[in-house]
Amino acid sequence: MDTFSPQKRSSVMARVKSRDTGPEKLVRSLLHAMGYRFRLCRKDLPGTPDIVLPRYGTVMFVHGCFWHQHDGCKRAKLPATNTDFWQKKLTANKKRDARIAEELEELGWKVLVIWECELKNREALCEHIRQCLPNERKDSPAPHMSENHR
Ligand SMILES: [Zn+2]
Repeated sequence: MDTFSPQKRSSVMARVKSRDTGPEKLVRSLLHAMGYRFRLCRKDLPGTPDIVLPRYGTVMFVHGCFWHQHDGCKRAKLPATNTDFWQKKLTANKKRDARIAEELEELGWKVLVIWECELKNREALCEHIRQCLPNERKDSPAPHMSENHR
């Protein structure tokens, strides 16, 4: 199903996976401001997630709406020219994302995707993050890593 030549594919992925993009930085500083502690790009994990929150068993990806084809998002609209070409390219990106998410879930990680367009509304984004990563209560023991002690 992979329609790219190896060279083509890696050039596509180089662009998709470029680090230190604006949106990613923004999510990191937001998380930091919200008091979450995290690690960056764990290369040993499938898809090298942008942000890893070990305490929450969660990995995060910050995805561009176009490159990762955000469903129903106007930023994901295909260009009017070379539509077939783009469709194939972007469908492959999306399939790859789905496969990576599956692999991560099999390893026991929760996968959280932040879309670029969500960054427009900072409050809603904070709310989304808080729902996915509930702050631990001081009166209950931290649940993290309990599987490793069995
Ligand atoms: Zn979007």
